[in-house]
Amino acid sequence: MSGTLYLCATPIGNLDDMTFRAIKILREVDLIAAEDTRHTRKLLTHFEIHTPMIRFDENCKSIVGEKILQRLQAGESVAVVSDAGLPAISDPGADLVKLAVDAGIKVSPIPGANAALSALICSGLDTTKFLFAGFAPKTKKNRREFLQKLSTVDATIIFYEAPHRLKNFLTELAEVFGQRQAVLARELTKIHEEFLHGEISELAEKISEPRGEFVIVVEGKTFSEQIETPDESISAVVEKFMADGLDKKSAMREAAKIFNVSRREIYNKLLSLEL
Ligand code: SAM
Repeated sequence: MSGTLYLCATPIGNLDDMTFRAIKILREVDLIAAEDTRHTRKLLTHFEIHTPMIRFDENCKSIVGEKILQRLQAGESVAVVSDAGLPAISDPGADLVKLAVDAGIKVSPIPGANAALSALICSGLDTTKFLFAGFAPKTKKNRREFLQKLSTVDATIIFYEAPHRLKNFLTELAEVFGQRQAVLARELTKIHEEFLHGEISELAEKISEPRGEFVIVVEGKTFSEQIETPDESISAVVEKFMADGLDKKSAMREAAKIFNVSRREIYNKLLSLEL
């Protein structure tokens, strides 16, 4: 019988957010795989957890991943933790889960704090449909492409960004996304927790020397916005439907319904844009 791989949430700032179950599981497992063992040691000391730890980060994930897999296959149980929040969300863990799933090992969540969802639920923006985009690419060209793709998404979008890149990121976001509502969720669960609301460009101006940790939550593009915009948005809608699995004819039929025009008109527009 192989053991279980637990994906264990840890607080994102406030130690009181550690769950009873997380403490119990971290005490019970044979091994804790931690992104930064020195950082996690403080947490374990605070909660009187004495389980052995192994470092598991981006640099050593393939070698250590195999070792962890062998221990799981031998019947031991292992908990993965990151520095904060949920492992495998903009943090190490996803590759290990893949290894375990492929090897038929049981994977189980120990839910808890997460910065993205904590920001979303307090943002006041639509929570029925959202997309977690994580960190934008570091190079300008890749970042622009990444943002351009996201600009047509009709769902609330959540980004992570480091404070020293935040102002530049918001300026670029405003250039690509235009005047949409956004929320900066700062220092969630900590003493200086705050939420700044406004249009993206206003927020970019307001933030001069940002300190602390930030989540950026941005309003998605609505269909009504797309209807008012030029022909390129028609092709974006057809492309979106095709990406969702429709063939071109069906995608054009669905786009025609949205724009309240005939399929022939959609076809002609696409021809003129050479889609
Ligand atoms: N795994 C974590 C989670 O579940 O939220 C995310 C880790 S990621 C490496 C770190 C980023 O998450 C930060 O740069 C920031 O964007 C966001 N973040 C983490 N803690 C936060 C907090 N207390 N307040 C606001 N943002 C936070």
